[in-house]
Amino acid sequence: MYRKVPRVRILGAPPKLMEYKQSLKNVVYKFCPKCGNESNLKAPNLLICKNCDYNFYINPAPTNAIIIENDKGEILLAKRKFEPKKGFLDLPGGFIEIGESAEESSVREAKEELGVDVTDVKYLSSYPDEYLYQGVLIKTLGLTLSAKIEENQTMTPADDVEEVTFYKKDEIPYDKIAFESIKRGLVDYIKQK
Ligand SMILES: [Zn+2]
Repeated sequence: MYRKVPRVRILGAPPKLMEYKQSLKNVVYKFCPKCGNESNLKAPNLLICKNCDYNFYINPAPTNAIIIENDKGEILLAKRKFEPKKGFLDLPGGFIEIGESAEESSVREAKEELGVDVTDVKYLSSYPDEYLYQGVLIKTLGLTLSAKIEENQTMTPADDVEEVTFYKKDEIPYDKIAFESIKRGLVDYIKQK
């Protein structure tokens, strides 16, 4: 028997895109990077220019986080000096710059933030995350790496690090960790030990 299939009216954007637009309320990517005209958000990761049709894909910015252990097997955590998450604990690290590998950028960040040279830099894992910076919610991909501090070096916290402390693996204060990707990186690292 023939049955009339009710026509479903889709009002507005699909829920996934709506949700994403909501989560992007802090994102100010509205204009075409090619011609400067206004763009439409077509998908969670795609803006299309109303003028020149340029497809601008919003990709995550890669960051690094370095896990450093001391001789006692304790892990170094850095207190954040600036917003976002000022006063919270973090692993040393930051945004990977153009032209750098994750390993090279870890060596640079260790020098900038701790004043030390690190060796044996090894990639471990990665986690999607976000970083609210000056009103813009930057979607990031947090890469976790391990590294060793070369012997006989004095650590001097600098840049965006207030101070550093070594924590026993079972005493890491996860509620004071600044970012989700850092928490997950630490948990997975400790699990594998
Ligand atoms: Zn354009």
